[in-house]
Amino acid sequence: MNTKLIVFSAPSGCGKSTIISELRKRGVSFAFSISATSRKPRGEEKDGVEYYFLTPEQFRTKIAENCFVEYEEVYKDQFYGTLKSEVERLLRQGTNVLFDIDVKGALNIKRFYGDKAVLIFIMPPSVEELSRRLHSRGTESEELIQKRLSRAEFEMSFSPQFDHCVVNDNLEDAVSKVYDIIAEANK
Ligand code: 5GP
Repeated sequence: MNTKLIVFSAPSGCGKSTIISELRKRGVSFAFSISATSRKPRGEEKDGVEYYFLTPEQFRTKIAENCFVEYEEVYKDQFYGTLKSEVERLLRQGTNVLFDIDVKGALNIKRFYGDKAVLIFIMPPSVEELSRRLHSRGTESEELIQKRLSRAEFEMSFSPQFDHCVVNDNLEDAVSKVYDIIAEANK
């Protein structure tokens, strides 16, 4: 199998995690790339499971040692990045490697790995529909929803630079489209 680095980016509320778990059910095999971050663990998060948790100093040392394929400082002292060692570890397993990272990180993975990387952007049917979905979750404040919506518009402006753009209007259709993209890339 011609294994690939599959990079998913999607604004929050676009159903990315649902699509990923549906792909698993359909037998698509992949390993998740675990990112490093200098933010503190939340809730039950464990080192080496959700993230490799580093201090800002440890993160900066690894930047200086050129250990990252890509990284972003999202807020001051809050870094997120993909370790070269992690990608190499997973590639040795002979399976697709899945990335759940932001749009800039995705484009940097492409720059580094070229055709080995397949970038998939999951789009909401429209900003209005995304707003409706975020409101119907009923879990977040209006202020946070507005933040997510403007972040979504920012992220969507990068979508033309992705290899594929899949609109998640109907979940079944979106899963099938992503399934076909991966099957074709693995040929
Ligand atoms: P959270 O703090 O909620 O776990 O993640 C915040 C954001 O960081 C998410 O949008 C996620 O896509 C992004 N992120 C997670 N890992 C990486 C990474 O390795 N590189 C980059 N560039 N972004 C990441």
